[in-house]
Amino acid sequence: MSNMTPQKFRTAYEALQKIPPNHLNIMGYVDESRVNGPGYRAVVWVQGCLQECQGCFNPQSWPFEIEQLISVDALAENILSNPRNEGVTFSGGEPFWQARSLARLARKVREKGLNVMSFTGLTLEKLSSKTAPIGAKALLEQLDILIDGPYVESLALHSPDSPVSSHNQRVHIFNPAFQDKITWASDQIEIHILKDGSRIFTGYRGQAGIDR
Ligand code: SF4
Repeated sequence: MSNMTPQKFRTAYEALQKIPPNHLNIMGYVDESRVNGPGYRAVVWVQGCLQECQGCFNPQSWPFEIEQLISVDALAENILSNPRNEGVTFSGGEPFWQARSLARLARKVREKGLNVMSFTGLTLEKLSSKTAPIGAKALLEQLDILIDGPYVESLALHSPDSPVSSHNQRVHIFNPAFQDKITWASDQIEIHILKDGSRIFTGYRGQAGIDR
């Protein structure tokens, strides 16, 4: 469960201030994933998460220090340059700590016909409240699907056809066109070899591991 102490929150907030406007601090990016949502998808893993869930597949995503800065325009261009990408999934890390820039990115790709889904370790209630991260409302407005809630190890699911990894997590389908499309093989692992030789393992329900 969340270990979001005021000190950790302050440190994260200060680190987030170092991200230039209209940029994202990301941990990784792949095209054409089949295991992070419906159809072929680009996946953007943002850097930084305060939840510190026990059993998190990728604690490397927790620090908020700058990992890889990319402008929203450049990332949108990358995503749209691959005609096989039908949608985009935001994962992490915690996407909603960078909600403002992700909302801009989502708007850009949706204008070109792609759908957008996000994971979050927060709850929809929190994201809709007055204490939500900046930009949360704007990002929620751009989403076709949201999968919410932290990973709770004691409530873990080990089912190959479940889109969530623990019982407390929920699938919110904001766009009814996706009502019968929550069927991806989320329990499978994909390995993407990047041009620089690093590898991204993904598919464990939206989480990622990076091997450099
Ligand atoms: S499982 Fe998700 S919400 Fe939990 S610590 Fe890992 S990245 Fe953060």
